[in-house]
Amino acid sequence: SLAGQVRGRFAPSPTGPLHAGSLVAALASWLDVRTRGGVWLVRIEDVDLPRCSPAAADEILRQLASCGLVSDEPPWWQSRRDLAYAAALERLVDNGLAYPCACTRKDIEQAAAQAGWVHARHGDRPYPGTCRPERGGLAGRPERAWRLHTGRAAGAEAVDWTDRRLGPQRQDVQATVGDVVLRRADGLWAYQLAVVVDDAEQGITDVVRGEDLADNTARQILLQRALGLATPRYLHTPLVLAADGAKLSKQNGAAALDLADPAQALRAAAGVLGLQLDLAPSASLGDTLAAACAAWRARRWPD
Ligand code: GLU
Repeated sequence: SLAGQVRGRFAPSPTGPLHAGSLVAALASWLDVRTRGGVWLVRIEDVDLPRCSPAAADEILRQLASCGLVSDEPPWWQSRRDLAYAAALERLVDNGLAYPCACTRKDIEQAAAQAGWVHARHGDRPYPGTCRPERGGLAGRPERAWRLHTGRAAGAEAVDWTDRRLGPQRQDVQATVGDVVLRRADGLWAYQLAVVVDDAEQGITDVVRGEDLADNTARQILLQRALGLATPRYLHTPLVLAADGAKLSKQNGAAALDLADPAQALRAAAGVLGLQLDLAPSASLGDTLAAACAAWRARRWPD
């Protein structure tokens, strides 16, 4: 890519069609690129193959196109990126930064209970490090997942980063997340590894995505450092809430976007981003996107 050129991406998981929340993230990343003369990419994150479908990916690409949001380069599919992820894991292993883990969910529960973490909800506590090499490794048990050794990854106790909308952030990845899974026990690549490898290989300078993903950023930065990769800028967009205030997601049955009137859907997404569009109700798709670009520029997100 050209030096200094902005490259952004929208990276949907094709577990279902776009909903109103995903259109907000797609529009924001597109505006962020278009207003700076950059390159906008769509990446299909179908790494969790059993939960994804090619039909849903096609539907998402069709929905985006009907909103005038079209990838500047052919979309990448994470399901075709196995070799790249394997090479990244190998690099971490070679540097002593990743190790195989034999623990089942039950093993982890038991170790956590012994450590006195009985009151923490599953998923809220870090992996206790049972299979770290310095603690004996697999000890003859079969390998299941592969994990990042946060005890050896420099700076895991305080990853500092600045979100362009949310401001300064800090996370102790070692204490709050622990040894991040890179390859899952079912043999699938973990989102964290895939997203870091692909963002770097696609030369992404600006990650713009929903605020529900902000919590992953410190893990991804740690992984970038462990792999010697550059860290992009991050901007996390406001979430669209369901009527009851819950986060809107495919999981809680968020309705697919009604794209009978794409300009109207874009106006709603722009509203979530706090963009004031000065438009007649009958404005065309092109006029709507142009007005959104002007409003995004006026908003002046820090670089
Ligand atoms: N594939 C992820 C999702 O749809 C988004 C990943 C990202 O933008 O970093 O939730």
